[in-house]
Amino acid sequence: MIKLKEREVVIVGGGLTAGLVSRRLVPAGRDVLVLERGPERAGGAAEELPTQRDDLRWGTHRGLTQRENVETITLRHKPNEQSLPMRRLTSFLPGYGVGGAISHWNGQTWRFQTTDYVLRSHLESRYGKASVAALSVQDWGLKYEDLEPYYTLFENLFGISGEAGNVKGVKRPEGNPFEPYRSEPYPLPPLEATEVGLMFRAAAAKLGYHPFAMPAANASRAYKNPDGMQLGACQYCGHCERFLCEANAKSSSMNLLLPLVRGKPNFEMRANAEVLRLQYDKAAKRVTGVIYADARTGEEYEQPASTVVLGAYVFTNTRLLLLSGIGRPYDPATGQGVVGKNYCYQTTSAVQVFFEDKYLNPFMGAGALARLSQLSTNTVAK
Ligand SMILES: Cc1cc2nc3c(=O)[nH]c(=O)nc-3n(C[C@H](O)[C@H](O)[C@H](O)COP(=O)(O)OP(=O)(O)OC[C@H]3O[C@@H](n4cnc5c(N)ncnc54)[C@H](O)[C@@H]3O)c2cc1C
Ligand code: SF4
Repeated sequence: MIKLKEREVVIVGGGLTAGLVSRRLVPAGRDVLVLERGPERAGGAAEELPTQRDDLRWGTHRGLTQRENVETITLRHKPNEQSLPMRRLTSFLPGYGVGGAISHWNGQTWRFQTTDYVLRSHLESRYGKASVAALSVQDWGLKYEDLEPYYTLFENLFGISGEAGNVKGVKRPEGNPFEPYRSEPYPLPPLEATEVGLMFRAAAAKLGYHPFAMPAANASRAYKNPDGMQLGACQYCGHCERFLCEANAKSSSMNLLLPLVRGKPNFEMRANAEVLRLQYDKAAKRVTGVIYADARTGEEYEQPASTVVLGAYVFTNTRLLLLSGIGRPYDPATGQGVVGKNYCYQTTSAVQVFFEDKYLNPFMGAGALARLSQLSTNTVAK
């Protein structure tokens, strides 16, 4: 194995986390190396962008996502069930390659509710202790107020389009009526509703609900963020999930964060570098580096580092901790341990509708906008 020169900060995974962390550390003069298992994607000049409408290549064969024929995840519904590999990932499509999953995400950009941060206490006070006794749900230790400035920063960096419902405590009828306090409105107005969104909105309002536009990282118009990074306006092409955005309107690490640090002498993106395990000094309780393999040659490297940041999404992050013997693995039988505990995936629902007398252009839409296949104009009860 080849031992490399020590670096100050090594980030495992070249996606959203790598972009956000590098944006802070590189201008502050820290030496940052990102190790990404997949290939480099230059995003713009690269061959990927002009071919995005090739649905077979990027949509069906999923050119931007983890390849399950090489590496997949296993699933058990009960501890005594045999764990089987998932051979076809469908809704769940982890990132692969520089940029990560945030390159082919949709851009639905919600803030959590104030009660989400104190969920256990909230449910206990509302429904009694017994209601949550069997659940592993817990309070975060942080409150919404602690994070509000960071939500605002993120929304400004990512040019979020939306209609605020509660700015500095002043309620706005067009926005989300349950929205927690926010210090600023969204930087961009909401996306235009498609016809199906307008129909949904009218029907929901008629029933006494309060429909509102979903906050979207699909820019409703051209936008320059506080770092001086530029977004184009969404073309409603419907190619958000699984694709890069040809109009540069979908916010991502690749178009807003990584260009800020690329080319700087204290930043390096090393693609095709698959981290296999962390080097952990158990006595000192310190991670001293990583072992990675060049994904093209299989050759292994030891990369020492003063600080290692895990930014390879929750599955890899957890696996690296388990393989390296860091922390206590979660045991569902006893409830003890935290590594691997409480992974949550989203639960969404959709309806298929048919109108004999209307032609709805279902191909028009954006990742965070109502459209036929993904009716996402949200409605909440009065
Ligand atoms: C199809 C899809 C749609 C989504 N839509 C939304 C949405 O609308 N709204 C929303 O809020 N979120 C959405 N998400 C989730 C969002 O994209 C992720 O939460 C976010 O990208 C996570 O950031 P991350 O830095 O943890 O991981 P990622 O951005 O995925 O980056 C992780 C990187 O680590 C790399 N990596 C993994 N293992 C290793 C290893 N061993 N060595 C080196 N590198 C490794 C991967 O290749 C990847 O590039 C969506 C996700 C997907 C897949
Ligand atoms: S729908 Fe808009 S944001 Fe999404 S890929 Fe098309 S142009 Fe980009």
